[in-house]
Amino acid sequence: MRILAVGAHPDDIEAHCGGTVAKYALRGDQVFACACTDGSLGHQVIPPEKLIPIRAREAQEAAAALGVELCLLGEPDGFLFVDSHTLDKILEVFAWAQPEVVLTHFPQDYHPDHRACSQLVQAAWALSRTGTLGRPVRRPLLLFMDAQESAGFSPHVYVDLTGAPLERKLAALACHRSQVEWIRHHDGVDLLDWFRAAARMRGLQCGVECAEAFALGEGQGRTQLRDLLP
Ligand SMILES: [Zn+2]
Repeated sequence: MRILAVGAHPDDIEAHCGGTVAKYALRGDQVFACACTDGSLGHQVIPPEKLIPIRAREAQEAAAALGVELCLLGEPDGFLFVDSHTLDKILEVFAWAQPEVVLTHFPQDYHPDHRACSQLVQAAWALSRTGTLGRPVRRPLLLFMDAQESAGFSPHVYVDLTGAPLERKLAALACHRSQVEWIRHHDGVDLLDWFRAAARMRGLQCGVECAEAFALGEGQGRTQLRDLLP
């Protein structure tokens, strides 16, 4: 299968669906990942022009840990907007990945960049059956990633991460050293503990050791889920 995950910032995929994409990759599926922005605002001490190459390197390391192919769109952090220039880029990403499953942010996510990313992906998804992408394709399954910090997220489906998928997710997150270190220093939060606990909590909800949760996009039936989830 061909899977596409699109996140706003260089660590969003790892944080919100890293275990699931790792699980797809582990069973031999082709997984494509895209980060829309350069992550240049992700540090309070390192200035943006120095942070951009650091975050690009961390994202490539994390992609290798997950077993996915990465594409960085390089939009400025904090300034991701729904416009035709950015939609063209997302359409190119769809044409590159030719996905059967698409994962992106929850539409009501707390972060403005995440919401813009979700809208862009939904627009590309809506166009993906019309021939805009070069050839008509079957519209992929659209899943929204967990948004625990946001109001209104209610899981429809869970993916069991027990074993290797969770360990790969945490290993990929650890590659984002600039984020792990400053969030520990600035907020007193250990990101790896946070996401291990979050996976445990979602696991408790669905009766496994650890899991990631997703909401179904508008008009998505549950019938095809069994064939399309790892
Ligand atoms: Zn983000």
